[in-house]
Amino acid sequence: MEAPTNRRKETSDRHTADAAHRAEDPVKQPAPPQEPIVPTALVKSPAVPSRKRDLPTDLQTRGCPACEHSVRTVFEFFAQWQYAIVIDEHAQKAFAAELGFCPLHLWQLAAVSSPLGASVGWAKLAEQLSLAVTWAATSPSAAKDASALVRRSADCRVCRLLRETEKKYGQWFAAALREPQNREAYERSQGVCLRHLSLLLGASPSEDTRRFLLRHAARRFKEMAEDMQSYAMKTEALRRALLNADEKDAYRRALVHLAGAKAVCCPWNEDGELSTEERTKQEAGKP
Ligand SMILES: [Zn+2]
Ligand SMILES: [Zn+2]
Repeated sequence: MEAPTNRRKETSDRHTADAAHRAEDPVKQPAPPQEPIVPTALVKSPAVPSRKRDLPTDLQTRGCPACEHSVRTVFEFFAQWQYAIVIDEHAQKAFAAELGFCPLHLWQLAAVSSPLGASVGWAKLAEQLSLAVTWAATSPSAAKDASALVRRSADCRVCRLLRETEKKYGQWFAAALREPQNREAYERSQGVCLRHLSLLLGASPSEDTRRFLLRHAARRFKEMAEDMQSYAMKTEALRRALLNADEKDAYRRALVHLAGAKAVCCPWNEDGELSTEERTKQEAGKP
């Protein structure tokens, strides 16, 4: 009787034996590579619940309200998607057929998935990639075909969701600014980041609103510059006790309003327990 072996070794031996067998027996050559499934939207994205919006509430952040709305929307999408690809074969097939998401959004999905969830939900994607790469191996333009397997923003459903979300939010935001109380709330707020400022300007029909938004942004950036200079001066002079809240988070506010929220630009920590609230606080430089 053969000595017991562990499962990994058995699998490895089986693959080696199969390969040798196939090499020796021309009748049992593997089937020619199948053409991969053309990426297509097989299932709809999970519906992201729409919450009641209120501009003064959104403007209470010290970060960018439009970035934070996008982050919340994408986080809710991932929370549902990572569950869908574990329990629903159609979602697994759609994820595979679309060849996943762009690299940024794959990493963000990984950040909200458990190792078991990712193993169940991503297996069909890996199978699909195996087929696609096998197909590329027979192609005269292998390098180009392999490069086309990496999803780009144009063919990533999360990027599409983000674009739609930003567009709708920008239109709602611009319309809401016509109300005097909303304009006052904006006046007191930190405003939006530069990227969302340009979206808002495009969605604002009135010259008066566009001027109002630009003057507000100019004033806030000037204040941030002064706060940063005060921060540096007081810190160097060992007068930290005199720092105020505006000076303490000035560089973070400047960064967020220049580049947008970190969560829409970078992968998230892979701690598996992301809290949007925590992340939002970090973005705004709050303790
Ligand atoms: Zn923004
Ligand atoms: Zn993407």
